[in-house]
Amino acid sequence: MRRQRSAKIVATLGPASSSPEMIAKLFDAGVDVFRLNFSHGSHEDHRARYDTIRRIEKQTGRPIGILADLQGPKLRLGTFEHGKITLTPGQAFRLDLVKTPGGLARAPLPHPEIFRAIEPGTEILLDDGKVRLRVVTCGKGFAETVVVTAGVLSDRKGVNVPNAVLPLSSLTPKDRTDLAFALELGADWIALSFVQRPEDVAEARKLIGTRAGVLVKIEKPAAIQRLQEIIDLTDAVMVARGDLGVEMPPEDVPPLQKQIIHACRLAGKPVVVATQMLESMISAPAPTRAEASDVAAAVYDGADAVMLSAETAAGQYPIEAVTIMDRIIRRVQADTHYHTIMDTVHLEHEHTSSDAISAAARQVAQTVDARAIISYTNSGTTALRAARERPEVPIIGLTARAEIARRLALVWGVHSIHTKDVSNFSDMVQRATRLAYRDGFADAGQRVVVTAGVPFGTPGATNILRIAWVEA
Ligand code: PEP
Repeated sequence: MRRQRSAKIVATLGPASSSPEMIAKLFDAGVDVFRLNFSHGSHEDHRARYDTIRRIEKQTGRPIGILADLQGPKLRLGTFEHGKITLTPGQAFRLDLVKTPGGLARAPLPHPEIFRAIEPGTEILLDDGKVRLRVVTCGKGFAETVVVTAGVLSDRKGVNVPNAVLPLSSLTPKDRTDLAFALELGADWIALSFVQRPEDVAEARKLIGTRAGVLVKIEKPAAIQRLQEIIDLTDAVMVARGDLGVEMPPEDVPPLQKQIIHACRLAGKPVVVATQMLESMISAPAPTRAEASDVAAAVYDGADAVMLSAETAAGQYPIEAVTIMDRIIRRVQADTHYHTIMDTVHLEHEHTSSDAISAAARQVAQTVDARAIISYTNSGTTALRAARERPEVPIIGLTARAEIARRLALVWGVHSIHTKDVSNFSDMVQRATRLAYRDGFADAGQRVVVTAGVPFGTPGATNILRIAWVEA
């Protein structure tokens, strides 16, 4: 069984999509990676979804990626004496640590770290940016502000402070418990929310080790400031446009999306574009043309994956959303301009045999009209470097490690297969050609390009390229 596209689909599971039948249908419709969102649901909910996915994996023989998305710190106002208030533009409004419920002139903000990070002029956004305050004066545990954008405020509305680096770890005690649980389950990717600094990635990496891939959600201006350092430390990135769109003006999000995809493509790290991709499909069976264009734009830019959130987690049309996403991706890939546009990214090559072989494999595949590039990969790096080249033909990633095959489900163009290590040349060629034939990538008499490392089974040793004929 093979997908007819290179860009991958990530779908979030939730109340609308958690029965075994529904998860199986989502997989059939095209989901490559399922997202377990730890902002919602109990550990038992996530365990049941996890077990279902692994059962489908067994039945279909296809590796499926599972992404555990940690909630991160959530900053919220306290409560109001009468449940809500209406602010007027230009009025004074105080935020402080006092626990007494708020009123027209003040509200509790139970986050000392915010008061430590702000200064006169800092903007504080409330309720997803619907209300905007500017700090006039501040001190230990309080801020006197002026209302810049007025509106209604009610109990426990969310708070964002876009232009400050808050002295907060991206991992709360709840995240640490969820992380331990997700790792014990066997999640393939861990998504980190609220990353502000490279140190946040290093802290999570210490806890995760090599047990899962680390995926950083870029959602804060502070992370954009240090994007390259963060990309260097992580294994993958998500353009988390929901939170990013609250903290940044809407017109900044599209160029940032392009910038992040570009930086990840240069680094050869998978990048996922997320949030509101087919938003209207939460309650409608077809997307708007603007949404179709949004998905297409991410694919033309060469994103590894596009993601569905509420569309599949809580919407009325989860299957339709995946089906249309699959159709949009395939249509973009059928466009003759697709590779021309992607090829505008100029790749420098590292002076490694892996990069030399990956670049050569793309070139050789084109020259001899090979049907696929087949990469033996131990840690997944060779498949990632092959994908970085964005070749015109599919990449088959063969690995003896089940967890690596699953992780590669997120990666552009890679059809991963969990198989045994090979021990000699003829085994290498036979296994590669047999699997390419079995999974429908090449017919008898067609050619494939095989890359591997000699001595066989040595990690990090990709150093050979072989053109092979497929036999029936
Ligand atoms: C986002 O903000 O775009 C996002 C994916 O994160 P979450 O859904 O956890 O808010």
